[in-house]
Amino acid sequence: MFLMIGVNDGQTALYYERLVYFSHLGKAVNVTVYVTYVQLLLFFIPTFKWNKHYYVQLPNGEVFELDPEVGRQVERGRDVEIKESDLYSNGHTDYYSDKSSNSNTGVYQCPHCGYPIVNDFDFCPKCGRRLR
Ligand SMILES: [Zn+2]
Repeated sequence: MFLMIGVNDGQTALYYERLVYFSHLGKAVNVTVYVTYVQLLLFFIPTFKWNKHYYVQLPNGEVFELDPEVGRQVERGRDVEIKESDLYSNGHTDYYSDKSSNSNTGVYQCPHCGYPIVNDFDFCPKCGRRLR
């Protein structure tokens, strides 16, 4: 018997029916909210998810990262209002070059291939290279 472990990148659209106001558009629009994650597979059975990020996509194709607190509430089906101040333009959350900060989520990226890694991994699950 041997242990089979794999990882999957996943993306799930969340139900959100409210309009979100954007000042740069000057109006409230329908948005698509979705969550991305890395999922651990044990014997091909999905187990836990980590490295969750929430995103909001506008009808014009623009994508903003959503505050994770707000995102979690949307995911749970809470009737929460997404405000413009809950959104960050994509790309500024550089979590692995900021390891010294105390807001460390326990996840960073493989220095070789960029794959999201949980803190206690010694080897990258994607490219197999040593991480420390
Ligand atoms: Zn790697």
